[in-house]
Amino acid sequence: AERLKAGLAKTRAALNTPLGELFSRARIDDELLEDLESTLLQADCGVEATHWLLDELKARVKREKIEAPALLQQALTELLEQLLAPLEQPIDFASHRPFIVMVAGINGSGKTTSIGKLAHHFQAQGRSVLLAAGDTFRAAAREQLMTWGERNNVTVIAQESGDPAAVVFDAINAARARNIDVVLADTAGRLPTQLHLMEEIAKVRRVVQKAEPSGPHEVLLVLDANIGQNAIAQVKAFDKAIGVTGLVVTKLDGTAKGGVLAAIARQCPKPVRYIGVGEGIEDLQPFRVDEFVSALFE
Ligand code: GDP
Repeated sequence: AERLKAGLAKTRAALNTPLGELFSRARIDDELLEDLESTLLQADCGVEATHWLLDELKARVKREKIEAPALLQQALTELLEQLLAPLEQPIDFASHRPFIVMVAGINGSGKTTSIGKLAHHFQAQGRSVLLAAGDTFRAAAREQLMTWGERNNVTVIAQESGDPAAVVFDAINAARARNIDVVLADTAGRLPTQLHLMEEIAKVRRVVQKAEPSGPHEVLLVLDANIGQNAIAQVKAFDKAIGVTGLVVTKLDGTAKGGVLAAIARQCPKPVRYIGVGEGIEDLQPFRVDEFVSALFE
C-alpha cells in the first residue's frame, strides 16, 4: 500500500491540490462543479466517466441535501469505488494447469518488464513459471526476456529465428512435461500506428489454442497509463483481434493520468489484473479498488 501511495503521487498531485482547494470552498455551486469537471478531465478520466461521476454527484447532493463541499470528497470517493469495482477481478489460476497467459501490448508499454515482474510475483505465490519468448521480431526483446528469466531463475523457451507460433507451441508442451503452473507467453509488440497489424498476434492465439484447446486462459493487454485516452482505442483494437480478458496498467507511478482507469471502466471495461508502479521487480501489484482510490486522495 505504501508503494502504491508513493507510485500514485503524480496522479494524486494532479487531483488532490485542485480537489483539496475545491473541497475547502465555502459552498457547492456551479463554479465548483465546473472546476471539478476540469480536474477530472485533466486526470484523464475521460468525458464519459467524468460526466457520469458529476451526474451521480449532483444527484447525491440533491438527494442527501449536501451543502458542505467537504462532504463532496467522501461522496466522490464512494462513486469512484463504485465505478471501478467491476475492474477488480483477480485471475482464477486454479481453473487450468498449465495456466496459459498470453501477453500483448504495443512497444514501450512495459510488456517485457511486466512479464518479468509477473514471473516474480507468481513464484512468490508458490507457482512455477515458464516464459515463452514469442516476440521473435525483435532480438532485443528475446534477450530482455532471457535476462528476466535468469533473474527469476525460470526457464525461457526461445528460438534464434522464426515463428512466434512455434515458440509458443514448444513452450506449452515443455510446461506440460515439467508440470509447470503458469506459462507467460510474450508476443511481438507493435507501434501505436500499427494497431491494424493484428493478424500475426491473432495467429499466435490460434496456435495456443491448437496446443491447448482450453487456452489461452488469460489474454493480458499491457497498457502504459501515460497514453491517457488512447488506452480506449488500444483496448478495443486488441480486444477485437485476440479477445482481451485482462489488463496490466503500467507506469502509474510516473503519470498524472491515473484517471484513465475510470475511462476504461466506463468505455471498455476489462478487469485490471495488475498495476505497475515502478521499474523494479517488486513494483507490480494486484489491482485493489479501495487501495487505489484511497491512494489517490491520501
Ligand atoms: P516493452 O517494449 O513493452 O516490452 O517495454 P519494456 O518492458 O521494455 O518497458 C519500457 C520501459 O518502461 C522500461 O524502461 C521499463 O523499465 C519501463 N517500465 C515498465 N513498467 C513500468 C512501471 O510500472 N513504472 C515505470 N516507472 N516504468 C516502467
